[in-house]
Amino acid sequence: MDKRIIVCDLETTGLDPKFDKIIEVGLVSLEKGVVTGKYHSLVNPGINLRLNIKRLTGLDDADLVDAPSIEDIMPQILDFIAEDPIAGHNVQFDISFLAFARGLPLKNHSYDTLELARLLVPFANSYRLESLCQEFGIDLVTSHRALDDALATAHLLEQLFSMIRYMEMDVLMQVTKLLLEAGSNWYGVFNDVVKSRLKSIPEQKISTRAYWLRGESKNSPSLKEFNASSDKKSLEFGEIRAVFAPEGALADVLPNYEYRSQQEMMACTVAETLNDKKYLLMEAGTGVGKSMAYLVPAVLWSIKNHERVLIATNTINLQEQLWYKDIPVLGRIISEPFRAALAKGRQNYICLRRWFIVLENRHQPNEAAFYARVLVWLTKTDSGDRSELNLVGFEEDLWIGICGDAEGCTWSRCPYLKDCWVQKARKRAEEANLIITNHSLLFTDVKSDNRVLPAYGPLIIDEAHHLEESATLQLGRHFSQSMFNHWLNVVGKALARLIDRIPPEDWIAWSASIKKAQGTRLEAVESMRAFYKLLGDAMEVGLSGDDGEQGRATVRLPGSSPKYGEVLVAGGECIKILQHLAEDLIVCAGFMEAWSIIEEAWAGYHRDLVQVINSGKSMVEDFEFILSAREEGFVYWVDIEFSPRWGARYYNLMAAPIDIGSMLYERLFSNKSTVIMTSATITVNGSYDYFIERNGLSYIPKEELITADFDSPFLYDQQALLCINRDLPVQGQVQENVYLDSLANTIYKLVEITGGKTLVLFTSHKTLRYVYRSLKTKLESRDIYLLGHGLDGSRSRLLEEFRKDSRTVLFGAFSFWEGIDIPGEALSCVIIVKLPFMSPAVPVIAARLEDLANREKDGFRLLSLPQAVIRFKQGFGRLIRSRSDKGIVVILDGRILNKSYGRQFLNSLPVKKHIRGSLDVIIKKILEWSGTEYTGNDI
Ligand code: SF4
Repeated sequence: MDKRIIVCDLETTGLDPKFDKIIEVGLVSLEKGVVTGKYHSLVNPGINLRLNIKRLTGLDDADLVDAPSIEDIMPQILDFIAEDPIAGHNVQFDISFLAFARGLPLKNHSYDTLELARLLVPFANSYRLESLCQEFGIDLVTSHRALDDALATAHLLEQLFSMIRYMEMDVLMQVTKLLLEAGSNWYGVFNDVVKSRLKSIPEQKISTRAYWLRGESKNSPSLKEFNASSDKKSLEFGEIRAVFAPEGALADVLPNYEYRSQQEMMACTVAETLNDKKYLLMEAGTGVGKSMAYLVPAVLWSIKNHERVLIATNTINLQEQLWYKDIPVLGRIISEPFRAALAKGRQNYICLRRWFIVLENRHQPNEAAFYARVLVWLTKTDSGDRSELNLVGFEEDLWIGICGDAEGCTWSRCPYLKDCWVQKARKRAEEANLIITNHSLLFTDVKSDNRVLPAYGPLIIDEAHHLEESATLQLGRHFSQSMFNHWLNVVGKALARLIDRIPPEDWIAWSASIKKAQGTRLEAVESMRAFYKLLGDAMEVGLSGDDGEQGRATVRLPGSSPKYGEVLVAGGECIKILQHLAEDLIVCAGFMEAWSIIEEAWAGYHRDLVQVINSGKSMVEDFEFILSAREEGFVYWVDIEFSPRWGARYYNLMAAPIDIGSMLYERLFSNKSTVIMTSATITVNGSYDYFIERNGLSYIPKEELITADFDSPFLYDQQALLCINRDLPVQGQVQENVYLDSLANTIYKLVEITGGKTLVLFTSHKTLRYVYRSLKTKLESRDIYLLGHGLDGSRSRLLEEFRKDSRTVLFGAFSFWEGIDIPGEALSCVIIVKLPFMSPAVPVIAARLEDLANREKDGFRLLSLPQAVIRFKQGFGRLIRSRSDKGIVVILDGRILNKSYGRQFLNSLPVKKHIRGSLDVIIKKILEWSGTEYTGNDI
């Protein structure tokens, strides 16, 4: 861009221009890529800064006290900006603050570098200014200071401009067209580049090369044939030891490799299980290095026997660790070549056929902006995998329209078959020795009678403590209000597009059939609306938004409300109308099928409509199944989400099998000869019985099932101090506010001595919020920043802030009890507020407890207690993450000492000693212990 442009950045006291104030202004003028002027001023906001703003900017009240007010400097700012366009990173934020301070809107044209970066840099891990600067090698002197940020944004802008200048002409033109539809301010810039390139090289030809093929992937040898024969070659322990030995292959490639006998033993046990074709259940403590311990024998087995091994994890974090960290190491230590593939559902990949149909259509502005992003991404991807696109909000919905759904695939008739990302991913999986996937896809495969994943031999399930929960979710059924509304919208859009198409014949009958379907769709919308209104009236539950991450409640079905009969009648009416809609759509599809012989394009339209019909049919089947609540052995309920922000409720109808164990055995274990399951938390009080019973392993002959423990190499009794506070009143035995105030006071005193670096684990959002509100100001006055789950941003953002700043305390509810890995000093104290028993009001838990009671079994001992112990072990496990970690765990729930079941919690921990007593005693012990060992502040 040749004309003068102003790059602006403001620091403020918060996010709302109506209530928050500007504290620093940084402006840079840029002409032909050169910085020609700068303006900077601190601003006195007239109020004190909050701790998070002080931490973020490094500014203090004293820095601003002598600064001018925004009114004083506004004339200089306006003079500097003049009538030139303003650019910035999330520029509307800065413009809204300037406009509010000025009392008049700014009429300057604006350019957002955040929007441009999202368009041009699809693979960025984050679009925050600091991250983009790192990616582009831009020097950002001090982040969150206005002038440095403005200068860095100016350099970023220049780099992004040059990306536009070097774009291939065909891509540039298509993106420009989409930006026009999107109403983007960047359209003019792109259009100028198009015009100038056409002018300078008028004869320039638009490339005919397919831009979606530009990033092609590299090759390595493949698993040629799946060997289904039962005659297998055994693994030798010697070849396993050669990898893990102190001077072995791992030590050769990993500079900081530490030999762990537990890891070597675990790998040998896995090898033995593969040789003997058995079922293996292993608990491996933190730090054993369990993933390498199963990957090494798994890959050696696959190479030797030409048999694919499937590895399923519960979380994306572990999947990413295996894929990005462990598999590359494996590639360096295993001398024979092998292949690994990450298996994801088809919906994760773009369908080129659907993409090009969508591209032809007219778009809403937000659709066009998203498709412009997809277009640029397609020029760079070598996987076609949506995870590279960092989809947000509505983009998820738009992705559904272009992803590779099985029902919409025209297979051999598809003109893009050769280049199809779905097919390439499938081929990669079919050629791989190791397939890494998640529990969810494993069960989708189980549900579809193994039509989703390529055939595999041994199965390894990591994070196995989630197996029962994953199977319950995946083998159950659900009907989501938002998904169904989305489906009705998709039908509406599909019909609107079809009526615009010119059919090769039967125009009158065709148009009448589309109009009929449109009418029935409107009836369906109305009937569903009436159904949800009645359901809402019948579910008379108090949703205060206080308990649950966003305000959730669950109600068992069939409902007990007298109004529930009306709900059933309305639901039946909906089902009838939806069946009529399916019939109408089938008539339309019939025309299209006939025309697909005449014109190829109609084959694609036909498949798309069939896909829409089939997905609708399966949703209606689920709806009917749950609403009728007839099938024995299932528990049925409504999950209600309450959005306090929008004042809206969303209803999800759910059904789950009560006895998942027999289902797991019948549909998974009984079909496999080798299954290896592992986790850091499987046993309860040293026993595997709970896991075996709950997950259907009790049906396996005893001699076929092996269990093995591999202790953590950490020296817990030296690295961790476990304290149990015994003077906090018991919740429920005193008035609620007495308990909550004592709890807040106890946490405050503990945090005072740790000076931050503390994770407090709650079991209730309501309690978390009470204590948060009680302590926020008090802690900030001690320069300790408090972050609250559900209060201060997303989980990942909270963890990032917690890691960054040692004088921070993080309050987390259930999802923070596991999956957090913060080694080192950043996390030096974990406070466990209560023993984590699940509420018996949760429908699946309630139904399973009833089922046990009906069979005259003790539900507390067989279900509630072991579940709580496993979660408790997970919570404890947040503290020590490496051999050099040290820290304190404080338990504030006296039941661990006073109740007979308390010992089961203590016996399940890797520490053998603990101290117990009043808060004063505990504080004294912590101070003594930390005097020699602990390195916390303020001690
Ligand atoms: S083969 Fe199927 S999934 Fe692939 S591009 Fe064609 S229609 Fe889409």
